[in-house]
Order: sequence, then structure tokens, then C-alpha cells
Amino acid sequence: MDFNLTEEHIMIRDAARDFAQTELLPGVIERDNKQEFPKEQIKKMGELGFLGMMVDPKYGGSGLDTISYVLAMEEISKIDASASVVMSVNNSLVCWGLEHYGNEEQKQKYLTKLASGESLGAFCLSEPEAGSDATSQKTTAIEKDDHYLLNGTKNWITNGRTADFYIVIAQTHIDKKHKGINAFIVEKGWKGFDVGPKEDKLGIRGSDTHSLQFNDVKVPKENRIGEDGFGFKFAMKSLAGGRIGIASQALGIASGAYELALKYSKERKAFGTEICNHQAIAFKLADMATQIEAARHLCMKAAWDKDQQNDYTMSGAMAKLYASQVAMDTTVEAVQIHGGNGFVKEYHVERLMRDAKITQIYEGTSEIQKIVISRGLIDK
Ligand SMILES: Cc1cc2nc3c(=O)[nH]c(=O)nc-3n(C[C@H](O)[C@H](O)[C@H](O)COP(=O)(O)OP(=O)(O)OC[C@H]3O[C@@H](n4cnc5c(N)ncnc54)[C@H](O)[C@@H]3O)c2cc1C
Repeated sequence: MDFNLTEEHIMIRDAARDFAQTELLPGVIERDNKQEFPKEQIKKMGELGFLGMMVDPKYGGSGLDTISYVLAMEEISKIDASASVVMSVNNSLVCWGLEHYGNEEQKQKYLTKLASGESLGAFCLSEPEAGSDATSQKTTAIEKDDHYLLNGTKNWITNGRTADFYIVIAQTHIDKKHKGINAFIVEKGWKGFDVGPKEDKLGIRGSDTHSLQFNDVKVPKENRIGEDGFGFKFAMKSLAGGRIGIASQALGIASGAYELALKYSKERKAFGTEICNHQAIAFKLADMATQIEAARHLCMKAAWDKDQQNDYTMSGAMAKLYASQVAMDTTVEAVQIHGGNGFVKEYHVERLMRDAKITQIYEGTSEIQKIVISRGLIDK
């Protein structure tokens, strides 16, 4: 067992840290206030190779491992979780699925643009009546001649307006239930495809979350991903990897809040000494650092499993379940350590606390992660 990072890993982590400090930190409070998408910053992230980190360079990606992805996600999320969710969706839910299950034409036409950051992707599974229970898809894609006719509504779609290409999950053979579901690549601007208003959210307010409507959208048959009926499995496999991305996002939110709290506690004085010298505060810092280290190990283990081609369903779910709880606990304590200053925007920790909550909800709620983990234990 080797806990050391390679020189390449350190280089990637430092590059992500540097980018987050110089490009994301200025303006992060304003973007949160105005719910403004970090358009220029995402463009630069694409140019630096952060949007297709694990994709083969022959398809425009950076050809890196999942450990590198976790390291970069942590650094970006420390500063701006609205930017890191864009990164996570594009890498894990869009590029990964296309690279593993798309055909050569789909990879040339779509993956090369998505992995290089020229285009942005979205992953559309959730619906008004299908969240945790993703088998209850009401969106239909009915076969007609050389195309499918797509009808329905998708909810809560990250990159909803800013994406160029959308992976849409829909029911093709209703009688076959989840075995009759397919995944399709849909392009922005196709007739009958409309984007709803932006959601006004508690956290990750800079990210672009919308509902989508499909009214008789003609999807060419060649845009179906994989064999007929592969869509549900495709979605579940994509989400298994996606959870490593969200776990790393939670880890970054927690470590960002901890670093701010540690610094503040060494500067702020009360009762004649820096507050870190009060044991009540010092013990909070000890708990935060220990839990963050444990979350980091779970994230790294899941990433390592994926890189070794081991099954990572359980390790990814464990990483997300634990890291998202640590993100909540740590950010609440970081606000507490900042006292009144923790309650105002200028000190960043209140935003991190709001951003932390979503990591317990999307890509499978914490309750769903427990179902995944317990099934894995019982079926062993
Ligand atoms: C900001 C944001 C961005 C998102 N981005 C995307 C995206 O890009 N693409 C996409 O497809 N979706 C996206 N989602 C949707 C997200 O994945 C869902 O909200 C999530 O899966 C939960 O579904 P739901 O909201 O319908 O809650 P529900 O499924 O209605 O769950 C409500 C509550 O019941 C619990 N529950 C449900 N079933 C069980 C059970 N069997 N046992 C125990 N408890 C249960 C849940 O854990 C939860 O606490 C996003 C959501 C948000 C808020």
C-alpha cells in the first residue's frame, strides 16, 4: 500500500489549486449572489483539460486517472462548488458514458468536443415523478422510421441552458419497464426542445439548473447509445462513477471550510488569546481534520478501485455518503468558529454551508446510497 501521490498527481493538484485561487476566487461571492454561471472560468477549465480529464487524448481528453480527477475536484470545490458541479457532470456523467458505450461516430462527433471543452454536456435522468425511483421514467422515445420521437419533461438538469449536447434517458418500450429504457444524444436547438426558467437555489447558485421539455423532438436512430434497452444500465453505471465526483466535491467543500476556519481561529482573539487556544475550538478543528482525512481516504479508495477496474459501486456510494455528511458537519462548525462573521457572505463559509447540502441530494440521496451499500453487503 502506497499513500504517496506521484509527481504527476501533485502537479495536477497544484494546477487545480492555482486555477481555483486565481480564476475562481475573485467574483465567487458575486456570482453566488446573482446566480451567475461562471462562463469564462468554465471555458478556461476546458482549455486546461479539466472537463475531459479521464478521456483518451485521441478523443480530446487529458488521459488521466481517477485519482487525478479526485484531486482536481477537491481543489476546485474548495473555492467554487458551482464550477465543480459543471466539471463533475461533464467528466463523469457525459464523457465517461460516451467513451465507454458510444460508437466511433458518436465519439468523433460529440465526445471530442465535450472532452476538449469546446462543448458542454448535460445528463438528463430526473423527472417530476422520477427522482430516486429512476425506473419510473415518463419521458417516451417512440421508434418511427429512421428516428425516435421524444416527448416528456426532465427536472433539475445541471448545465440545463448552457449545455450543447444532452444525454436524455427515455422509455422506448413501456411494457418492458426498465429494460425498455434507452439513452439518446440530443442537440441544443432541435425543434420541439425547450428549456424552462433557471431554478432559484439554496446553494451552488452559480450553476445552471433547469427543467427541459421535449415535444415531438426527432432524434435520429444513430443517436441512441448502445443496444436497444441499455439505457437504464447506462444511467446506473454512469451514476456509479458520478458519485466519486460528487464525493470529491463534498470533500473539497469540507476542506475549504476547514482551512478558512483554521486560519480565522489563529487570528481572532477572545479573552486575551487566539480562539484556537480555547479547547472547545481546538477540538472542533481536530474533529474536522480527522473526518476530512477519512473522507479523503474513502474518495481515493473509490477512485483507485475504478482505476484498477475493480467494482466501485459500493466504494463510490460509501465515499459519497460519508463525504457529504462531513461536508455538512464541517461547514456548520466552520460558520460557528467564525462567530458573527460566519453569518455574512464576505467570509465564504456561509456559502460553503449552503453548497454542502446538495451533495446529500443529487446523484442519489444519502438514503439511496445506504440502499446501494446495504444491497452490496447482503448480496455478497
Ligand atoms: C441542484 C440540483 C441539480 C441536479 N442535477 C441533476 C442533473 O444534472 N441530472 C439529473 O438527472 N438530475 C439532477 N438532479 C436531480 C437529483 O438527482 C434528484 O433531486 C435526486 O435524485 C432526488 O430525487 P427527488 O428530488 O425526486 O427526491 P425523491 O426521490 O422524491 O425523494 C424524496 C425523499 O425521499 C427519500 N426516499 C425516496 N425513496 C426512498 C427509499 N426507497 N428509501 C428511503 N428513502 C427514500 C429520498 O432520499 C428523499 O429524502 C439535480 C437536483 C438538484 C437539486
